[in-house]
Amino acid sequence: MHKGSCLCGDVTFIVSAPPEGASVCHCGQCRRQSGHLWASAYVSEEAIEVQGPVAWYEASAMARRGFCPRCGSFLFWKAHDENTMSFALGALDLPTGLKLEKHIFVADKGDYYDIADGVPQTD
Ligand SMILES: [Zn+2]
Repeated sequence: MHKGSCLCGDVTFIVSAPPEGASVCHCGQCRRQSGHLWASAYVSEEAIEVQGPVAWYEASAMARRGFCPRCGSFLFWKAHDENTMSFALGALDLPTGLKLEKHIFVADKGDYYDIADGVPQTD
């Protein structure tokens, strides 16, 4: 089980299944919303319990992005046609025991850093 929260603590969540697909997303939307890049993993919707006031932003026709309306922490990503929810790895209490599996949307990454951790990359 994992527990997470936003910066101010108004939004908390509990993950009750093993997180899958731990990844870092370098796409333009995650770059802008997070200020750099966004690390997340996902579980089925039934395996994550969210408490508190989440604000949702429809960044595209396919998914929405959830954040704390008070402190702005970018916590969730939810595709409309999938029954999974992605949550921010950075919001989890430590230790997580998790390891990144991949970098995604690397073709869209910022030009001011290199990825040099040896974790597989996909465009
Ligand atoms: Zn907050």
